[in-house]
Formats: sequence, structure tokens, C-alpha cells
Amino acid sequence: MARTVYLNGEYLLENEAKISIFDRGFLMADAVYEVTSVLDGKLIDFNGHTDRLRRSLDELDMKNPISYKELLEIHRELVLLNNINEGLVYLQISRGAPSDRDFVFPNPDETDPTVVLFTQNKPGLANSPAAKKGLKIVSIDDERWGRRDIKTVQLLYPSMGKMMAKKVGADDAWMVQDGHVTEGTSNNAYIIKKNKIITRGISNSILHGITRAAVLRFAKEGQMQVEERNFTIDEAYKADEAFITSASTFVMPVVEIDGNKIGHGKPGSNTSRLREIYLEESKKAAI
Ligand code: PMP
Repeated sequence: MARTVYLNGEYLLENEAKISIFDRGFLMADAVYEVTSVLDGKLIDFNGHTDRLRRSLDELDMKNPISYKELLEIHRELVLLNNINEGLVYLQISRGAPSDRDFVFPNPDETDPTVVLFTQNKPGLANSPAAKKGLKIVSIDDERWGRRDIKTVQLLYPSMGKMMAKKVGADDAWMVQDGHVTEGTSNNAYIIKKNKIITRGISNSILHGITRAAVLRFAKEGQMQVEERNFTIDEAYKADEAFITSASTFVMPVVEIDGNKIGHGKPGSNTSRLREIYLEESKKAAI
């Protein structure tokens, strides 16, 4: 069934929604995005995603064309129109489509941003079999640009990273810079050693994950120890547990890194507990 999507103020069938070939999202990856998960038909961590969206737009001097209230309305409308119980809402805002290709930003008074939203139906998202089995990870060099804190649609390297993982029979890749793990291709990376959760601190080197912020908050509330610091890939090989977080995977165990079994090669108990707490608490707070 064709989805109903949102484009610049209109709800359209997916095959009727069209944007210009001069759109800067298309030509320059001059666009930012957010992905919000939907559980029980409700939006998870919505305020976190809209706050980060505003920050991404500000960092790129891009006009914010849409209010929080409108965004919430559009998200809810798309969830309803497409009958999403479990799934995702993808949102993208580009600097718009000037009349020609040019490296110089168009005058924001003359070129409006392009706003696109669509849903992805994912029944069973919260009950994913991967959460019981755990992921196999390979490490790759981090070859992305320096402003990974801005959530832009420049996703070619992360996409290549997923393909490198797939090629060797792994599920995903962790990226390594100067010997330290930055993050996963589309998620934040964690290890647990002696019941302490270790994850890289916030900087321009990683995306400030919305799920990360929530999980670390729940962990601290649950009296778990959290240490935000760089860790090496060798440290990860010897960890008791490892996991990733993202809006679409929540908390997902990692059971193997570069062929090294993590812990007993099964999802760790702290990780499973964190996943349960995250799902329970974020469903309670969903809007
Ligand atoms: N890091 C990167 C590089 C990502 O692409 C994502 C997912 N968009 C994350 C981390 C996780 O962020 P969030 O929890 O907000 O989905």
C-alpha cells in the first residue's frame, strides 16, 4: 500500500511527492534529519529529537521552517494515516532548492527549506530477535568529516561501513579513530567492564544520541556506574558486555567484535536489563 508522506505543507501519496533536482539535500547533502521511533502508536523521545533537530539547523545556519507544535502534529498525523503501531518516522529538512547549483548558500529569504517526513512500518521493532541473539561487530577506520555532532544526511561512509560489515558476515561496524572507538555506523557504542558502563563522551566526534542520553540517565537512576571516556578497541575485545543504542534499535547487545567473543558470547545481563528499562520507561513517557 502506498504510504502517505508529508512534503512542504502537504500530505501526499508517496509516488506523488516530488522535489526539485536543484534541492541542496540532493546535490550537496545540505540537509539534516531525525528518526523517531513509534511504539504502541506513540512517539518515543520526541522532545529530544526536536531539540537536536533545532541544534543541527542552528549549527548549519539553516532556517527553522517549522514549529515544535507543527512537527508534533505532522508526526502524529502520519502515524495515524499510515496506521503505524510500531515503526519509525523519518524527518528531513534541506536548505531547499535554489534556481541553480551553487556552493554558496542561497538567500534564506528567497529559498525555503524543503521539509519531508515519511513513516516506516516495522512490526516487531521492540521484540526484535536480534536483541536476544546479539550483534556481531567489526571495527573499521572512522573516515567521516569532523562535525559528526550535526545530524546531516551525509551517510555515504556509514553506509559503506555497513557494507564492509556485511561482506565479512557481521551485522554492523564500530568506527575507530586514533585507536579509540568513536561510535557505530548508525548508533552509539558502549562496553561494560566490572558492571561499569563505559562510552565515549559527547564532542564533535560523535552524534549526541537521544537514546544515549536517555539510557545513561536510566542507568544512573538505577544506581549503575557510568564512565564517559574514550575506550580502545582492545579494551572492547576484553569487555564483559557490549551494546549499542539508537532510536531504531533501542539498546541492542553486541556479542562479538572482530571475531572476539564478548563475555560468554551471549547478550549480557546488564545490557538486557538496560534494554528492558529503556523500553518500559520510554513507552511510559511516549506522546
Ligand atoms: N550515532 C550515529 C552516527 C547515528 O547515525 C545514530 C542514529 N541516528 C546514533 C548515533 C544514535 O542516535 P539516536 O539515539 O538519537 O538515534
